[in-house]
Amino acid sequence: MGEVRSLLRHIPKVDEVLMDEHLFLFFKDTPRSVIVDSVREKLDSIREDILEGRITEISGKDELIADIVSSIVEKKKKVLRRVINATGVVLHTNLGRAELSKEAARAVAEVADSYSTLEYDLKRGQRGSRQDIVEAAVKKVTGAEAAMVVNNNAAATMIVLASMARGREVVVSRGELVEIGGSFRIPDVMSESGAFLKEVGTTNKTKASDYENAYNEETTAAFMKVHTSNYRIVGFTEDVSLTDMVELGKKFHVPVIYDMGNGLMTDLHRFGVNEPTVKDAVAAGPDVILFSGDKLLGGPQAGIIIGSKKYIDMMKKHPLARAFRVDKMTLAALETTFYQYQDEEKAMKDIPVLRMISATEEELSQKADRLMALLEASAPGFSYEKESCLDQVGGGSAPTNYLKGCAVAIFKEGVPAEKMERLLRKAEIPVIARINHDRVLIDVRTVNEDEFDEVVSAVGYVLRTISNKEGEV
Ligand SMILES: *Cc1c(COP(=O)(O)O)cnc(C)c1O
Repeated sequence: MGEVRSLLRHIPKVDEVLMDEHLFLFFKDTPRSVIVDSVREKLDSIREDILEGRITEISGKDELIADIVSSIVEKKKKVLRRVINATGVVLHTNLGRAELSKEAARAVAEVADSYSTLEYDLKRGQRGSRQDIVEAAVKKVTGAEAAMVVNNNAAATMIVLASMARGREVVVSRGELVEIGGSFRIPDVMSESGAFLKEVGTTNKTKASDYENAYNEETTAAFMKVHTSNYRIVGFTEDVSLTDMVELGKKFHVPVIYDMGNGLMTDLHRFGVNEPTVKDAVAAGPDVILFSGDKLLGGPQAGIIIGSKKYIDMMKKHPLARAFRVDKMTLAALETTFYQYQDEEKAMKDIPVLRMISATEEELSQKADRLMALLEASAPGFSYEKESCLDQVGGGSAPTNYLKGCAVAIFKEGVPAEKMERLLRKAEIPVIARINHDRVLIDVRTVNEDEFDEVVSAVGYVLRTISNKEGEV
């Protein structure tokens, strides 16, 4: 008993520990409470260990401080953190969809920590409108008459339906009643908006006559086409093209709405991505088109609505416009992204989503060679092999199109790939990789060249951790 009491007496005091120079360094940029909590927790756990008889001596000061430092470092980690996407899925929904271009990210940073012209007209020195910020750029690039931006495409669908069809019917093909992850289902959004869904056709076939028969002078508010972005109906199928729907709309004087999802600006067929472009959609002539900002457009999360001024003006005045409006950071990123599209060739290189999708097999193979050379030099304890693989656009886009990619496979006799994959996620900059045939794959399509050093340190960390554990055994 006396021994326990004497041990307890030797536990250092919180204030004493806080004087340590290693902890002192943290005070510059860490909330005091984080440091104090870490010290207290460590001292409490020592006290408990003594009382429970788990330890009979108090560890040395260096060890004590090292434990506290790693606890502070752990506490300082943000929940939302940067990761390296080594999955080869370009628009990875769980990893934040589109990576912004460097220019767009800079524009965000610039308005984030200063005042800006968010709702201010510099020329006139008066109040301006945040909707004007991107409208000109969007109109220029898409050729649309008017444009508006909301929080995401789900919000866009909602405000389009609420402003154009509340209390009336919207005719949609049964083959296009999509669900986009989570709880976004066209029929549900429709009912929330106050519009009534009028389903026509069957799952695999919908004909122009189906829309014609559904038309009712009193109740029909719009014909709506929804791009089946995340699935394809193949086989014995038929649907009505956007052009033909526009014809039907003209015939009955009913507006046509097109939810196209992706927001692709440049044709990507030559890279194996069979998705329609916004320009094609505009050319077909529907009254309203809506799409996401962070899918194939490669910008920030946003819902972009383009079309006739008559309808867009109604949406801008709708009460939901305030609820769905975007902030200055989104607008900064979006304005820059659209600005970049004014030079399409340059956009293919500067907008990460486009650059990643358009990377050729040859380029990816050489990129994998470069990464492999770095890994072999810095972490020779693992085996590496170049492996071809199939990549995806992701984000519920182009579901049937696979892109030929290239990866560096990492493996070692006796080390399960699952373990490697898990440790890669624990690295300082986590690397999210996939597993194929019990080998971890670092797919280079979605890893930027300037992230190679961080991949190498993550692999080094995995190797060290595994070797240390082996040493213990
Ligand atoms: C992705 C998608 C949506 C939802 O867009 P978010 O920007 O994720 O809200 C709606 N409709 C279609 C057709 C889509 O592809």
